[in-house]
Amino acid sequence: MSEPIKSLPLVFKEPRGRKKPPRHLADLDPAARRVVAEELGLPAFRANQLSKHYFERLVADPSEMTDLPASLRERLVAELLPPLLTPVRTLEADKGTTRKTLWRLFDGALVESVLMRYPDRATICVSSQAGCGMACPFCATGQGGLERNMTTGEIIEQVVDGARAMAQGKIPGGPGRLSNVVFMGMGEPMANYKAVIGAIRRMTDPTPDGLGMSARGITLSTVGLVPRINQLATEGIPVTLAVSLHAPDDELRNELVPVNSRWKVHEVVEAAWEYARTTKRRVSIEYAMMKDINDQAWRADLLADVLQAYGDWGWVHVNLIPLNPTPGSKWTASRKEDEREFVRRLEAKGISCTVRDTRGSDIDGACGQLAAAE
Ligand code: SAH
Repeated sequence: MSEPIKSLPLVFKEPRGRKKPPRHLADLDPAARRVVAEELGLPAFRANQLSKHYFERLVADPSEMTDLPASLRERLVAELLPPLLTPVRTLEADKGTTRKTLWRLFDGALVESVLMRYPDRATICVSSQAGCGMACPFCATGQGGLERNMTTGEIIEQVVDGARAMAQGKIPGGPGRLSNVVFMGMGEPMANYKAVIGAIRRMTDPTPDGLGMSARGITLSTVGLVPRINQLATEGIPVTLAVSLHAPDDELRNELVPVNSRWKVHEVVEAAWEYARTTKRRVSIEYAMMKDINDQAWRADLLADVLQAYGDWGWVHVNLIPLNPTPGSKWTASRKEDEREFVRRLEAKGISCTVRDTRGSDIDGACGQLAAAE
């Protein structure tokens, strides 16, 4: 089912000679870590000790690694835990339970992540690329174009920072655990597949090899790069798949999600259904509600029919997202009565459906608002 990456358009190729971020523990699987320990002239168990500090204790500060000889700590940290992200600015909303961080990467590229604490869970929304090449006209990230792919280490550092903030009680509500990760920040995760899969493995590998998170708590959102959806289904990590559909018909989707000119609505929905069938995980369909653009009653009916074509065994759930404002966008959020009618029609046809809250919109931290400007 999976084909070689080179046969795919839309996968960002790093220009030759571009400087790479320094090597980081989170870039390496356990076997590669042992190889690096060996290269440094150290026994393999040193790599395990360092992994325990980073993935289990969430510690990267050598002074806290008291089970390692002092001289070795500095060296291991310099070799394997270089700082990859520098916080530039943090904005808070919802009494501190929503926190958006602007990060500078080693080469000056800027990305954002958003931590959201709820009564029963804490979710970090991470970026997988600096910018995005998918050019969806209603999304602030899409307007800026793609700068570069992020590495596995750069993705994981966002997660570890969120996990640390929760563990240390830095978010109101007392110390807690980071339970969920959503690839819904900047970038198209499927266009940076290898690094994203590496990050998912680091998250789901049991401690101390990885963060020991449940795959069920991880959601990957995509515009619908069909071959990559098919490939993800073969990885054996049942993460939740979210597909940004936004329109049930090709005519409108070609405009809202330009990659639709390559993979059509029916191909994307079929791949999503196949993913649900293989992984037994319910797929989410994301649908940003835009006034008089995609929110008509007939489109609700058509959306339900398109999804129902694959049966009503509960394989799919529709998330309606009230459109968040972005600079220069000509579109606005739907009227509440149109939104209600849309929900009613989907439910009448047996499609489960919720309207997403717009957390973080007051700090430009909600869906589609991450532009990473200083
Ligand atoms: N590139 C991936 C990951 C980003 S997820 C994807 O598109 O799925 C960000 C989600 O927010 C996507 O569903 C995206 O379509 C949606 N979105 C983008 N701009 C938005 C806006 N202005 N208002 C509401 N949702 C938006």
